[in-house]
Parts: sequence; structure tokens; C-alpha cells
Amino acid sequence: MRPFDYVRTTTLDETCQLLGQDGDSSVRALAGGTDLLTLMKKEISVPTQLIDLKRLPDLPSGITSTAQGMTIGTLTTMTEIETNVQLQEKYPLLAEAAAVAATPQLRNMATIGGNLLQRPRCWYYRNQLVNCWLKGGDECQAQDGENQLHALFGGGPCYAVHPSDLAPALLALEATVQLRGPGGERMVPLAEFYALPEEKRRQETQLEKDELLLNIHLPGLPAGTRSTYLKAMDRKVWAFALVGVAAIVRLEEQKIVDARLVLSGVAPIPWRVTAAEQALVGATANEATFAEIAEFALADAQSLSHNAYKITLAKSLVRRALTMLTDEG
Ligand SMILES: Cc1cc2nc3c(=O)[nH]c(=O)nc-3n(C[C@H](O)[C@H](O)[C@H](O)COP(=O)(O)OP(=O)(O)OC[C@H]3O[C@@H](n4cnc5c(N)ncnc54)[C@H](O)[C@@H]3O)c2cc1C
Ligand code: SF4
Repeated sequence: MRPFDYVRTTTLDETCQLLGQDGDSSVRALAGGTDLLTLMKKEISVPTQLIDLKRLPDLPSGITSTAQGMTIGTLTTMTEIETNVQLQEKYPLLAEAAAVAATPQLRNMATIGGNLLQRPRCWYYRNQLVNCWLKGGDECQAQDGENQLHALFGGGPCYAVHPSDLAPALLALEATVQLRGPGGERMVPLAEFYALPEEKRRQETQLEKDELLLNIHLPGLPAGTRSTYLKAMDRKVWAFALVGVAAIVRLEEQKIVDARLVLSGVAPIPWRVTAAEQALVGATANEATFAEIAEFALADAQSLSHNAYKITLAKSLVRRALTMLTDEG
């Protein structure tokens, strides 16, 4: 790991100014460090200064109820999200997503802010000897290479999948992120915060270099809404999603009146399948409907040479999630 200076700041303004400073030094924000330090050890990220966010007094932490729903401060750990009783009751899919992410030790350290901003696990990206497109190079080695874990949707120029389990759950909840930069604060729907990497912005979010994530705001859900997060892994614990689904459904007399479906592990950003959601609304909840919706949700998937298995996996997760959420037993 390259040497770096450890910096403590006392205000949000001072932190944003430091993060945005020009020149040779690259300043990065450190939360739990479970992703950033891994990247630094491999010299994929080489900051000269690290600002310790956990010591920054005004940076929000904790889970609070609001008139609209609930707010989660960026420094809230994944363990806190997994074990919070109100979240478990009101937004079970979020607590479930936290519970199946990483390991207990990591969840104790990792913050929700860091989880939403973690970088891809693509093995070419994580290999310090490969300068792939996302790291500023000219080509994506995964496109015609070892792409077993890569994208079915939204691929090109980058085919990595977004690694977070919390992001798809929050996108299904239509969460909004509160950001702070030198010019003040802005509220951005998570649906806009995540954006496919492009030539001029080789990252998965709209976060500016000098901005901090402060809070995640969750709107309320109508009574009777059910939700779940299901994740397929190549081993039982401590694995990123091969494919996941965050599903929210509201049922009235066996008719679906509201539905949201977000897939994880299939695109560089969490992938909402809006057309499938629309097709669900007004449909009768039964196995035939769910099989049809699962086909519909994956209809536009474009597999690479080694990842077609994800299509079958995703269809079966969608069917399973919808069956679980509408099961009257
Ligand atoms: C072995 C292993 C298995 C894992 N498995 C899973 C899994 O199954 N599912 C899953 O979802 N995740 C998984 N993870 C990822 C893990 O959840 C993330 O590493 C963690 O959530 C990152 O949070 P952190 O607080 O440690 O962030 P850090 O590593 O400190 O930061 C990550 C990034 O976020 C930025 N950042 C953090 N907070 C802010 C803020 N408030 N404002 C601006 N920028 C900020 C940092 O600058 C950095 O770029 C795994 C990680 C490991 C190492
Ligand atoms: S998928 Fe993205 S991160 Fe992986 S090699 Fe291609 S450009 Fe790099």
C-alpha cells in the first residue's frame, strides 16, 4: 500500500473542500474502510490523504422515523440495518438484504454509505495488472473474457455488475439520497443517483468528487405492502449476489395493485424492471402470472459468452419472490 496521510476534519464544509481540492494529491473519504482499504492495498485506489468520516461529528448515523417514512444516516452500519426492529417491520426487504450481505464482522464495520458507493468486484477491475476501461484504460477485458459474473443488462463499455445488496432494496423502495457539496445540499432519487458508467464519468454514481453522502430517505409504504430480497450465491454465506431480486407487492383480493421489481447482479447499476412491474399491476396472483412476469422481466437480457445461466436463475428468483409475497398461508 502506498503511504498516505490520515486526516480528521471537524465540519462538513471543510471535508467537502478538502475532497475537491485540485493538484497532485488525491483525497478520499474513509468510512468503514472495508472496500476502500482493499482497493488501496492493491494500489487500484492510491489516495495521498484519507479523511476519516467516522470521526466527523456532523455526519449522520442511525435510523430515525420521520413524517414521510424513515431516514438512515450514512454512517449507520449494516448490522444496525439488519437488526433494527422498525426497519424489519416496515421495510423487511432492506433488513433481509443487509442480513445476507458479506459476513457479521464486515457488517459491523461497513456503513450503508460505503455499501452504496463500493466499487465493482469484476476480477479484471480488482487486478492491479489490468488497466481496464473502468479504470481509465481503452478496453473491457470481460466483454470477451471471463465474464461468468458479469452483466445481462446495461453492459458496454463496462459489463461489471453492481455488488451491493442494499442498493436494489433501496431502489425498490424509491429512496432518495441527500448529498452535500461545497455549494450546499441536493436531494437525488436513487434511480438517478445510479447511472451507467460513460466515457466522461467512469463510475456508477452521480456523486461528485467533492460531495458527501449524508442520509438516505425512505418514503412510507401503504398498509398491507409486502416485500422481500432474495439472493442466489455460489456458496451459502460470504458471497456477492450471482443474481438477486428486491420485490415489493400489494395485493387486494388476489389482484396485484402495486408491484416493484429490482434485479441485482445483472447490470452495472441496480436494475429496475419497470415493464414487468406494470404488467403485474391488475394481474391475478398465481403461478401462471408469475411465470409470465419472470419471462417478461428477463426478455431484454443479453448474455455474454459465459453468463447465460443468470437468466434462468433470475427468472426463478422472480417467480419465488412473487409466490412468497402473495402466499396467503
Ligand atoms: C469479503 C467481502 C464480502 C462482501 N460481500 C458483500 C455482499 O454480499 N453484499 C454487499 O452488499 N456488499 C458486500 N461487501 C461489500 C461491503 O458491504 C462494502 O465493502 C461495505 O459496505 C463498504 O462500506 P464501508 O463503510 O466499509 O465503506 P468504505 O470502504 O470506507 O468506502 C467505500 C467507498 O465509499 C466512499 N464513501 C463512504 N462513505 C461516504 C460518504 N458518506 N460520502 C461520500 N463517500 C463515501 C468511500 O470514499 C469509498 O469510495 C463485501 C465486502 C467484502 C470485503
Ligand atoms: S467489466 Fe468493467 S470493470 Fe470489468 S473489465 Fe470491463 S470495464 Fe473493467
